[in-house]
Amino acid sequence: MNLEIKKEAEYCLHCKNKPCSNIGCPLNINIPEFIEKIKEENYKGAADILYQTTVLPAICGRVCPHYKQCMGPCVRGIKGNPVNIGKLETFAGDWALENNYQIKKENIEKQKRIAIIGGGPAGLTAAAFLAMKGHNVTIYEKYDNLGGLLIYGIPDFRLPKEVVQNQINLILNLGIDVKYNMQLGKNLYINDLEREYDNVILAFGANNSAKMNIDGEDLEGVFGGNELLEYNLHPDYKGKVVVVNGGGNVAMDTARIVKNLGAEKVIVTYRRSRDEMPAESKEIESAMNEGVEFLFQNNIVKIIGEKNVEKVELIKTKLIKKEGETRPSPVNIENSNYTIDADYVVMAIGSVPANEAKELGLECTKYGYIKVDEKGMTSNPKIYAIGDLANNKSTIAWAARSGRNVAKEINNEVT
Ligand SMILES: Cc1cc2nc3c(=O)[nH]c(=O)nc-3n(C[C@H](O)[C@H](O)[C@H](O)COP(=O)(O)OP(=O)(O)OC[C@H]3O[C@@H](n4cnc5c(N)ncnc54)[C@H](O)[C@@H]3O)c2cc1C
Repeated sequence: MNLEIKKEAEYCLHCKNKPCSNIGCPLNINIPEFIEKIKEENYKGAADILYQTTVLPAICGRVCPHYKQCMGPCVRGIKGNPVNIGKLETFAGDWALENNYQIKKENIEKQKRIAIIGGGPAGLTAAAFLAMKGHNVTIYEKYDNLGGLLIYGIPDFRLPKEVVQNQINLILNLGIDVKYNMQLGKNLYINDLEREYDNVILAFGANNSAKMNIDGEDLEGVFGGNELLEYNLHPDYKGKVVVVNGGGNVAMDTARIVKNLGAEKVIVTYRRSRDEMPAESKEIESAMNEGVEFLFQNNIVKIIGEKNVEKVELIKTKLIKKEGETRPSPVNIENSNYTIDADYVVMAIGSVPANEAKELGLECTKYGYIKVDEKGMTSNPKIYAIGDLANNKSTIAWAARSGRNVAKEINNEVT
């Protein structure tokens, strides 16, 4: 028995109304119940409860924004520290990976043929929940490995690749077929899939860095954070000053990676204050501890240089809370502009889907996300879209939730 884990499990009050699960967790995992099983040292029981609602416990346990999700409304947190739900989920999730746990599959053949495009957390979750119900699922993935941003986005120091691979293997044990090196729009076409399958689920993410559309954004030395990580485009940072613009996970991960790769100075610029940063507090602290500097309430207005980046012009902001807004809006303070020297700029202010999304003939939002209804259905009733591609809040748990919901929707059509 792991005493530390037992103690943490015993700290849970096992609340009847389960705010952690009902308000906090996008997947509505039955948190008090799986913790209860850990208390009883019934780890298989804990895994059984987790796998009713998620197929990614070893991953979500490590990298979900717990304070913004399950741990936020934890009753223990009112007067002290909330229960460390992430740690307990990681424990039970790892136990399943290390003990040859198999996800329960219903012994019925429903024989619906489903194609899923993209094997990130959304696609994997949809595949698993469909396979559990006896459907024939094929994932088409552009790379020769699954996982999406779990592999080429989130760095190893936060989410070890081995854990991701083991979690994927456990999912694939359900009997899911995977076709690797198949890229929609290149060697894979939606019309063919529509003919061949009963339903198509689009799950190819949204990993193109959004642009600010400011002067100098096309200079050499300006990178999109998402592309920098996905394609490993890093230049030699030794002795260089790198400005990373943004306040979320991509900004924090990029800043830490760039610092670890030897940059002399890494400065994160964010237009609101630390309190409004979308990144988890522990990630911000880790970045600070590793020497990353922060300029809060500063907005980039211009990138300056002949051919390469030489300077960045910033403007200071004040925060104004308007009626009906959940967080204050940054407003530029007139004449507060100043410049700092820089060699590289990384834009990490959000991401949008690749162009192939718009080329599918489906209705899209003005930012290029695929439009879906409350069931996850696109403007073509045979085609669903899930995860970041359908603008599902850019977290793993929300991507997984949309995958699970669409799987249920498709399954209900045949029951
Ligand atoms: C640096 C970084 C750090 C992050 N940190 C966190 C975190 O700590 N916590 C958290 O909850 N979320 C985090 N996120 C967000 C999270 O990773 C995403 O919300 C989640 O991965 C979205 O899942 P998805 O399945 O929709 O898309 P993706 O993970 O992007 O997966 C899409 C899949 O589709 C494949 N694909 C793409 N194009 C095609 C094509 N044309 N044809 C076939 N296949 C294709 C891709 O290779 C990939 O496998 C982070 C994101 C980044 C970039």
